[in-house]
Amino acid sequence: MIAISSLNSITNAKVVLNKAAGSRASIARPSRVMPKVQAQAFHATPYDGFTFEPIREAEISRAMTSRYFKDLDQHAETDVLIVGGGSAGLAAAYELSKHPDVQVTLIEQNVAPGGGAWLGGQLFSAMCIRKPAHKFLDELEIPYEDEGAFVVVRHAALVTSTLLSKVLAAPNVKLFNATAVEDLIVKPDETVPGGKRVAGAVTNWTLVALNHSTQSCMDPNVIESKVMISSTGHDGPMGASGVKRLARLGMIDSVKGMGALNMNEAEGSIVQNTKMVAPGIIMAGMEVSEWSGSNRMGPTFGAMFISGFIAAHLALNDLETQKNGNKNTDEAKEMAQV
Ligand SMILES: Cc1cc2nc3c(=O)[nH]c(=O)nc-3n(C[C@H](O)[C@H](O)[C@H](O)COP(=O)(O)OP(=O)(O)OC[C@H]3O[C@@H](n4cnc5c(N)ncnc54)[C@H](O)[C@@H]3O)c2cc1C
Repeated sequence: MIAISSLNSITNAKVVLNKAAGSRASIARPSRVMPKVQAQAFHATPYDGFTFEPIREAEISRAMTSRYFKDLDQHAETDVLIVGGGSAGLAAAYELSKHPDVQVTLIEQNVAPGGGAWLGGQLFSAMCIRKPAHKFLDELEIPYEDEGAFVVVRHAALVTSTLLSKVLAAPNVKLFNATAVEDLIVKPDETVPGGKRVAGAVTNWTLVALNHSTQSCMDPNVIESKVMISSTGHDGPMGASGVKRLARLGMIDSVKGMGALNMNEAEGSIVQNTKMVAPGIIMAGMEVSEWSGSNRMGPTFGAMFISGFIAAHLALNDLETQKNGNKNTDEAKEMAQV
């Protein structure tokens, strides 16, 4: 065993030599020697003396593509399609993951899901969550400091990474990230004469969706859904895409646009307005404010989690209604008139 002090002197000697040599090639050369010295100097690990088994490149390619295309095949028709993997969409997916018989497809245009929930306000770390949404943190076993009316998690990324890990581990949930929803599938609503129902989404790789102006004829893909949760967040290049499209299709009256900041008004209003805004499509999270004109709330996230939770249960109720064949309800008629 080589003592740490002598290891340091060996390392330092190499740095001096490398500095003297002054080229990239000479800096790279000693790294071939280092792992052996380090392995002797530190505690034993399960990887000491390991060797990788040989593989073929094509095997790796097939391992990925076969699974991805199987997923695409299985999710061409889905029970619940969630558009937008921010705090509201992830909360909805988490709640639905408790129902293994319900297939959930989550579409996120970014490579990294999580939306605005990786940080608190103004890029600060802490995430503030109004009670009673702290119960959600209890369920996820995320520690927090209790500030009375709200709780604080030391880093928003702890909440989002924990939530994401639970959602991704659920066998009934599939995330397609780097995939954007470009449009809605709308079909006649069989329950209401002359009515229309959202029946799925039109998707594309986000990088393709962003390049329609540079190339023509880049047709999209489609996913049929029994019910959709739209949680695409604030208005923006892709945000609030669900409500904006519904308005253009005449399936909702208007997009009122998010109201000014008022924390007390905003959170309750978002939760109360989490509903099926047109047949087949439930609105959750900050997209609700774009539809209803609710105030913005600033960096407090309680309403986002509760909104996602409620959206999940509205979706489950709708699936149940469809299963029972009892679609021609007063609720459906009311929604068709919105
Ligand atoms: C720094 C910071 C400042 C904030 N300031 C405010 C504020 O001033 N007011 C306020 O109310 N809240 C604010 N918040 C809070 C936060 O933005 C929201 O409360 C919360 O993130 C909204 O959650 P959401 O799930 O509705 O939307 P988001 O977190 O925005 O998630 C929406 C997700 O949908 C995805 N998406 C969008 N369109 C599509 C599409 N067409 N296809 C596929 N995926 C799509 C997005 O990529 C995103 O991941 C702030 C947050 C941060 C981090």
